[in-house]
Amino acid sequence: MQPIIRRIPVLIVAALLGLVAGVHSGFAQPGKGGIERLYVLYCGDIALNDMGRFSPGYSGPGALSDTCYLIKHGQGWLLWDSGLGDAVASMPEGQKSNAGVWRVWRTLSSQLAEIGVKPSDIKYLALSHSHGDHVGNVKLFPQSTLLVQKAEYDWPDPSGAPRFPSELPAIKAEGDHDVFGDGSVVLIATPGHSPGHQCLLVKLPKTGAILLTGDAVHTKANWDNKRTPVQNFNHAQSLAALDRMAAVLKEHNAALWIGHEPSEVAQRKYAPAYYE
Ligand SMILES: [Zn+2]
Repeated sequence: MQPIIRRIPVLIVAALLGLVAGVHSGFAQPGKGGIERLYVLYCGDIALNDMGRFSPGYSGPGALSDTCYLIKHGQGWLLWDSGLGDAVASMPEGQKSNAGVWRVWRTLSSQLAEIGVKPSDIKYLALSHSHGDHVGNVKLFPQSTLLVQKAEYDWPDPSGAPRFPSELPAIKAEGDHDVFGDGSVVLIATPGHSPGHQCLLVKLPKTGAILLTGDAVHTKANWDNKRTPVQNFNHAQSLAALDRMAAVLKEHNAALWIGHEPSEVAQRKYAPAYYE
């Protein structure tokens, strides 16, 4: 065995390297008030009459998944997006529109209950944007604080009405926002699909970093081909958002999780299982 005196420089270098790596990665430690878990929640199925509305170049029917994500952090629970809405589950033929049909086979409420989380436990309700397939269950969480971009909050709906319940406390971010102050959950401003669209960067202690897309991108094919839907609010911003996301992925060595990409459903473990 080496005498301890000869191992000291090695130990010091190792400690310094660990310190530098820890500071650089910004990863929070589990069980010390930091981020602990991420649950993937089923939030509905979307059947589209015309996939081309979302994926230029395609025509004919298509399908999108609808995914929500629940994060357990030492400072409280955060729900990312709220899905189509539990009310759709009781509609025998789903909720129809000119665009297609929404269906919910399993409610968000029942999934939260299964893991022992009450709606009133949700500290933050963070929403990628204000479209109906993401805000369907906002009313389940009257005690939560909204985390949205100010540009989205201030964007009136087509009738001129507010898009979010004004009685809910809200943090209206203007750009990126580090939710818990430890770098583990960060809103990433990606306007374009809507005026105040945002993605969510999550840094899990074991799984690593994940970028949750919201609707900045709808499908893997759109991501691979840098395609954006024609009905997006701002085309140039939508393309800039893809560049920003690519930079975030690189900077944080993050995985891209596309909540509307149906082929990802089979790749994920859903609640009550979780990622650490
Ligand atoms: Zn959507």
